[in-house]
Amino acid sequence: MNISFLGAAGTVTGSNYLITTEKYKFILDCGQFQGGKKTEAMNFTDFAYNPADIDFMILSHAHIDHSGRIPKLVKEGFKGRIYCTRGTSDLADILLKDSGYIHEKETEWENRKRARAGLPSVEPLYTVADAEVAVKYLYPVLYNQTILINDEVTVRFKDAGHILGSSIVEIWVKENSHEKKLVFSGDLGMMNKPLLRDPEFIDEADYLLIESTYGNRFHEHPEQRIDKLIKIILDTTDRGGTVVIPSFAVGRTQEIIYELNKYYDNKEEGKRFNKIPVYIDSPLATRATEIFRKNAEVFDEETREFIMSGDNPLDFKNLHFTKTVEESIALNKNVAPKIVISASGMANAGRIKHHLKHNLWRPECSVIFVGYQAEGTLGRIIKNGEKNVRIFGEQIQINAEIHSIEGFSGHADQNGLLDWLKGFKKFPEKIFIVHGEDDSREGFKNVIESTFDVKPIIPKMNEVFNCRMETAEPVETVEEVLLADKEDTKELLSDLAHLQEIYESTLKKTGSILAKKVKEDEFNLIKNKLIEMERNIINLGMLLGDRYEDEA
Ligand SMILES: [Zn+2]
Repeated sequence: MNISFLGAAGTVTGSNYLITTEKYKFILDCGQFQGGKKTEAMNFTDFAYNPADIDFMILSHAHIDHSGRIPKLVKEGFKGRIYCTRGTSDLADILLKDSGYIHEKETEWENRKRARAGLPSVEPLYTVADAEVAVKYLYPVLYNQTILINDEVTVRFKDAGHILGSSIVEIWVKENSHEKKLVFSGDLGMMNKPLLRDPEFIDEADYLLIESTYGNRFHEHPEQRIDKLIKIILDTTDRGGTVVIPSFAVGRTQEIIYELNKYYDNKEEGKRFNKIPVYIDSPLATRATEIFRKNAEVFDEETREFIMSGDNPLDFKNLHFTKTVEESIALNKNVAPKIVISASGMANAGRIKHHLKHNLWRPECSVIFVGYQAEGTLGRIIKNGEKNVRIFGEQIQINAEIHSIEGFSGHADQNGLLDWLKGFKKFPEKIFIVHGEDDSREGFKNVIESTFDVKPIIPKMNEVFNCRMETAEPVETVEEVLLADKEDTKELLSDLAHLQEIYESTLKKTGSILAKKVKEDEFNLIKNKLIEMERNIINLGMLLGDRYEDEA
């Protein structure tokens, strides 16, 4: 087995690894490079492999730096399945189409500029139509489901607690009757965060690819980050300013809505808050929030209880979702105190650029960064304390207060990453540190070396490692066919028959109740429970689907 590091090696973005086994080739992630001009130009270079030769792909989560080159991959001949979780598939569907739209718009703008300079026009990286074709290859599977992809490769997805649908991927590769296990951490979330479940621990691995976005840094305590956020909001709106929060459409935005919801519901503080409108100005964030509301089963215990008590954790009285461009422009003209949450999170594209242009110069306003800002992005430049920036060709003086709250990050910090590593019962013999800038990777490498008895590798871009298979214990080559126990099958059939009976009586009852007028909170309880049930039935059905395919 060979591992080639073709992205997110020396950078945070462009996640892409090629695994070559004796008979097969597959890739982990196919993300877009994001950052300055030089980094983004890398999206246009040829893949290091022929996409038509790749048998299948594994997608850890939907973020564009992990999925954003999939339409290019498909356009250039990839025809395999893209294995991912259902949440990832739902989100990638909207994110990739949105990305296609951004590429089309940016190319139009670029081409107008080129025409004026007498230069030939250029093609977008991909279009909405390309993205529409590409998402057909997404192949959703369940968390914890063991997927025998072919005679050499078996895969299992574990929850990474980073965004909806995010996963850690366990991959077993069998070659020459030896088996080795490779684990890809994907992006690891923080423990004890609202909404999502915690990242799962993994028992064992031979080889590990681990992210290091915050490999040399520490987050604030969750309580502190909320207090800080609330204080900035109240201070800013008291002096008549607007709070602008650049936020990733997926994940961070929903987390902030969830936190704010608690204050708007609170009797004491709620009074001050009720005067402050909150605008989510990102069509993508609006659609992503819908997907969150629909995927209630992925939430953690606390959030589920919240939902079951009849409250919608992603909604409150003063929350507005702007839809049209006109509504977005109106927000810029309105100087009344408010909170505007808009994408993109690194302020390198999207409506947020307009909000920054209109508010950065106003000393009463505040900008709060709540996520990672990659090198070269507008967000990073502002965060670094620049006093003047160029936005849409205009020079803007920065008079607003600039804040950064690291604790909202979707990524584990150094302590979180180390705690996750401590979860291994059989520690990986080789650790590759990826998905981090070089100082993060170096810092993380040093701390791993001093904590565990292992020397991690910091792979360079385009570096290939040969993971020798011969040191492994030979695995049993005899295929063991397990026949299901007759009694177990009988019991399952009787359970299913029972479920059918309950279903029929529930159907009647639901119909007769919903025929009458139901109180809103009770209606929400019923609705959420039904959505959850629907998901569960789909999950049950999918087990059969996969099994059936294996048999065929
Ligand atoms: Zn991510």
